[in-house]
Amino acid sequence: MNFEPARILEAPDIVLVGSGIMSATLAVMLKRLDPRLRIQMVEITSELAQEASNGWNNAGTGHAALCELSYTPERDSSGKVPITRALHIFEQFEHSKQFWGSATAEGMVGAAADFIHAVPHVCFVKGREDVDFLRARHTAMAEHHFFRSTTFTTDSSRIQQWAPLVMEGRNACPVAATKGAGTEVDYGLLARRLCGWLAEQEHCGIAAGWKVTRLQRGVGEWHLTMQCQATGETRSQCAKFVFVGAGGGSLPLLQSTGLAEVAGLGGFPIGGQWLVCDEPSICARHEAKVYGTTPPSSPSLGAGHLDVRRLNGQRQLLFGPFASWTTRFLKHGHWSDLPLSIRAGNLSALLKTGMRNRSLVKYLITQGLQSMESRMEAVREFYPNACLEHWRLVQAGIRVQAIKKADRGVVHFGTEVFSSADRSIAVLLGASPGASVSVNIALEVVQTCLPHLLTSAQGQERMRRMIPTFDQDLKQPRNAALFEKTSREAAEQLQIHPQP
Ligand SMILES: Cc1cc2nc3c(=O)[nH]c(=O)nc-3n(C[C@H](O)[C@H](O)[C@H](O)COP(=O)(O)OP(=O)(O)OC[C@H]3O[C@@H](n4cnc5c(N)ncnc54)[C@H](O)[C@@H]3O)c2cc1C
Repeated sequence: MNFEPARILEAPDIVLVGSGIMSATLAVMLKRLDPRLRIQMVEITSELAQEASNGWNNAGTGHAALCELSYTPERDSSGKVPITRALHIFEQFEHSKQFWGSATAEGMVGAAADFIHAVPHVCFVKGREDVDFLRARHTAMAEHHFFRSTTFTTDSSRIQQWAPLVMEGRNACPVAATKGAGTEVDYGLLARRLCGWLAEQEHCGIAAGWKVTRLQRGVGEWHLTMQCQATGETRSQCAKFVFVGAGGGSLPLLQSTGLAEVAGLGGFPIGGQWLVCDEPSICARHEAKVYGTTPPSSPSLGAGHLDVRRLNGQRQLLFGPFASWTTRFLKHGHWSDLPLSIRAGNLSALLKTGMRNRSLVKYLITQGLQSMESRMEAVREFYPNACLEHWRLVQAGIRVQAIKKADRGVVHFGTEVFSSADRSIAVLLGASPGASVSVNIALEVVQTCLPHLLTSAQGQERMRRMIPTFDQDLKQPRNAALFEKTSREAAEQLQIHPQP
């Protein structure tokens, strides 16, 4: 989707930097909350949502904690698996489905089948210890109404039905798996559809092919400097509120503000890579997202997974992510991104992080240098009969992890919203769980920075039309029936009925 010529508004109320899933979601939410708002989006590339949100640059998992062991930590002293974080992620993803369902029902984003599919989420483990853990995890989760329909098995023939490739050629050993009704999402396409709707609205403009180069605080407003990537022309714009959803480009822009709160903030990029299989006879036999345990050698980057993907109408198998060393903050960025982000204020935090995470640095370097055959060894953990000739390596997106002085060298692999003390700017930093929780992030920005949009009965009603349970706690047992109802409604709107 190209937006030419770029539409630059005279005096926007709000400017959003970037056209990925985060800015697209917030822009649409704001316009639906107050149709009078004058909204400007600025995107550096001429096509929209081509960075982390692009379908090839992320795994497309609708993170709902169904298969990702990382959302449930080790057992507590009583032997139970704590599920608080899993419940939180699941509820956030319910908000996302409600929002996308409502946008589909209102004809804003075209056919849902273009960007979301029902796909079983399978968690597969092997070895006695991991089998016991998965059983305990499932016992704890299945007690809650969110996870009641997930299934656990240690029966290898049942796992073979769920994911044949995973079991074929596997040596005898204790195995276990859980299966839940999950989704696969093309976040890039969804973002472009949301932007397409925005572009058609009155008082809204998208300037594609323009880079925001600087953000400066004025009196009661922000001054943005932007440059046309094709001609070099420079323009400036003012707005009372700015949202920086620029992915890896967020940190340099935040640094340009000179805000005191930003001193000491740095960024650490981690590149991603996938192995992709296009062989139709193999792809046709895998209809799941299969996640495993995170190997101890890959600190906090998440478990590998073997996924069916449907991108650009084609069915593929994807395995990864493999991490790689990079100094770019964006795929379309420059090798100097990391060096240019280093300041006297953040140098010590960056060095401390490097020292404290030597295993992570070593891991990134060895991952990047490994041969195709050693990558195939990782694939064979999931698909023992995998053959090298069916797989090719592709570059995925880049995650820029925020490094803060206060963290004392500990890297937190999370997504967070930074907002200035006067709430006139919000900046999205971080990575996981990312796109899946974009709706909650947008909601958080509205609640924190633009709460007046929600104070009136009309504002509340408009938000309820987008996210029916935005002000309810679906986790509470008393809301189990409400959860069933809203979850069913969203599934109908999105046509994502679980497969048998
Ligand atoms: C390997 C990998 C796997 C992932 N898997 C998943 C997954 O399975 N599920 C999930 O939910 N999430 C996943 N994520 C995370 C998810 O992709 C991101 O959280 C999400 O896409 C971020 O969206 P965004 O809009 O913030 O950023 P982006 O999509 O990166 O958008 C930022 C936009 O800002 C533009 N921009 C940057 N600087 C400027 C500037 N100065 N001026 C103008 N425009 C600018 C960029 O060109 C870009 O279009 C994954 C990420 C990676 C890297």
